[in-house]
Amino acid sequence: MAIEYLCKACRGHLNVKTSIVLAATKVNSSRRGLIFLNPELGNYTVTTHPSFTLEEGQEYLITCPICHSQLNSLKYAHLVRIIMVDEQNKEADIYFSNIAGEKCTYKITGTNVEKKGPDAAKYDKYFDIPDEDRKYL
Ligand SMILES: [Zn+2]
Repeated sequence: MAIEYLCKACRGHLNVKTSIVLAATKVNSSRRGLIFLNPELGNYTVTTHPSFTLEEGQEYLITCPICHSQLNSLKYAHLVRIIMVDEQNKEADIYFSNIAGEKCTYKITGTNVEKKGPDAAKYDKYFDIPDEDRKYL
């Protein structure tokens, strides 16, 4: 079984062939399109159609292409959440930035936080929570 990525709302499969497919809308703009992310954590290659290029430093609203739910985290500003299911069928929350060009990924499994990317320190504050407080989240 391969690693799967699911929408946090409808649990539809977001990974198709070799990409995670999401819909993106530039904040305060009508510009929108599909983005193809590399499913390997820490790989920040993003593919889009030439008519929709991501603007470095811009914020994007990320939605599920299946159910159109917003995937931006309500809890953590500037982060987007999807679900990862690994080969052992274990689930993790994956967070990444909604700002184009920011390279950071957080994999949360229970109380374990795995951080990746050169910009990971930027949102460290969200995840540096003492273990004993995590159960209240
Ligand atoms: Zn969905």
